[in-house]
Amino acid sequence: LVARMRPFGTTVFAEMSALATRTGAVNLGQGFPDTDGPAEMLAAAAEAVRGGANQYPPGPGIPALRAAVAGHQKRFWGLDYDPDGEILVTAGATEAIAAAILALCETGDEVVCFEPYYDSYAASIALAGAVRRPVTLRPADDGRYAFDPAALRAAFGPRTRLVLLNSPHNPTGKVFTRDELTLIAELCQEYGAYAVTDEVYEHLVFTDAATGHLPLAGLPGMWQRTLRVSSAGKTFSCTGWKVGWVSGPAALVAAVLRVKQFLTFVNAAPLQPAVAVALELPDSYFDGFRDDLQRRRDQLATGLTEAGFETIVPEGTYFVTAGIGRLGGRDGVEFCRSLPERCGVVAIPTQVFYDDVEAGRRLVRFAFCKRPEVLAEAVTRLRTLP
Ligand code: PMP
Ligand code: GLN
Repeated sequence: LVARMRPFGTTVFAEMSALATRTGAVNLGQGFPDTDGPAEMLAAAAEAVRGGANQYPPGPGIPALRAAVAGHQKRFWGLDYDPDGEILVTAGATEAIAAAILALCETGDEVVCFEPYYDSYAASIALAGAVRRPVTLRPADDGRYAFDPAALRAAFGPRTRLVLLNSPHNPTGKVFTRDELTLIAELCQEYGAYAVTDEVYEHLVFTDAATGHLPLAGLPGMWQRTLRVSSAGKTFSCTGWKVGWVSGPAALVAAVLRVKQFLTFVNAAPLQPAVAVALELPDSYFDGFRDDLQRRRDQLATGLTEAGFETIVPEGTYFVTAGIGRLGGRDGVEFCRSLPERCGVVAIPTQVFYDDVEAGRRLVRFAFCKRPEVLAEAVTRLRTLP
């Protein structure tokens, strides 16, 4: 194995899901729903398979999906992208992020990101021979995660090539505010940096969040320098489909396509028309999806607090982060490895998403994208913890 990949073991999600399978624990680790997405989408996929959409589709993605991605971004965020040249379909957000970093970063270039960061970020940055410059998010007095503006400024420098921003943020559930995004935008422009934005949870901002979802690309001066990434997995409860996309100015999207064509060439043909159908569902689908997850968030957050966790109620995403200190937990990895045996539940130790391991040592992440009865069972089990 090449040196740059040696620091990366098995992903925490694979390890923890295997642990859940082995022990029969309730799996609130890896974030995937336990119910299917919209029936119209599922029917369209079956229809496409039967209808013969089973050979290589066009490299940038089928026109109907690119048009639907453009229409969706215009409808919800007021962003304009030309389906011909400014949108590229990818194998999930994961490939879009990796291909964007590989397309933009020379060896030694720096990528500013926020920690805890989604696990593929560090590996994709390493694959490109680039260097990550994480800025730590910490819970502030108002219970929201925040970063020190001076630390963000200090992370920028002459080698900064891009900022990799995830909002709504996994694992903290933070939704970046307009003020925070404005500072990021100013620094990008001051340092001539690009932005790659991971917005896979764009439809999971809860009604009591301090702000709605704001794409960085919508801020002044940012459309031209931003590659905006999203995917169908979360919004349409189909994480196993791996249909994602990246939108941006034509020159940047062309650069990503140059890399993407040699990573996967093209993506699952029959799933593309189905995701196009889903993206065109009425607003009521998206509202209902959010409200449903918000109820589950409340159910799990309340249950975790009752079980003795120090719960931080998330403004968005699939996840609640919880402190284990009051339960006597000193290390999240130890805690999560023993949790299935102690009470039959799997969670994710948040520290694996930090360079500054201490900042996340006593935090664990629980997913609430599960049926209410599954969440209830998990809470019942967690309440048996001494
Ligand atoms: N980014 C974040 C923040 C995620 O939580 C995930 C997990 N779904 C991904 C990217 C990967 O998305 P996809 O499955 O579409 O590759
Ligand atoms: N995004 C999901 C999570 O954070 C898992 C994705 C994966 O397993 N790679 O749980």
